[in-house]
Amino acid sequence: MAQRLVRLICENCKRSVQYAPEQLQELGLNPTEWTGKPLYEGAGCLECSGTGYHGRTAICELLDLSDRVREMIIARRPTSEIKRAAKEEGMLFLRDSGIDKVRAGLTTIREINKVTFIE
Ligand SMILES: [Zn+2]
Repeated sequence: MAQRLVRLICENCKRSVQYAPEQLQELGLNPTEWTGKPLYEGAGCLECSGTGYHGRTAICELLDLSDRVREMIIARRPTSEIKRAAKEEGMLFLRDSGIDKVRAGLTTIREINKVTFIE
């Protein structure tokens, strides 16, 4: 299981923010899915020394490979193809798991973008 640490939004100065569709696109979020949905970030306060973050959490990637995916890796298929197949079989990727935390208001998309790649 792959794991990355991301910073948690400071609960003391958390506020909801709205991004324009172009900004969502830049951050790797699908504008049709995210426009109008609240995203959160920390404004910065004494509690978090102005950073807007307090504490950390881990996001994980399940590397529980199915036979089909394992065979594709052995056959050295392109990564994009392997990822697509893995997704079809319900594997949860690091980025998806991070985006769940963004949706829950625990961390920011910028934090997720620092540790994962925009596809
Ligand atoms: Zn704060």
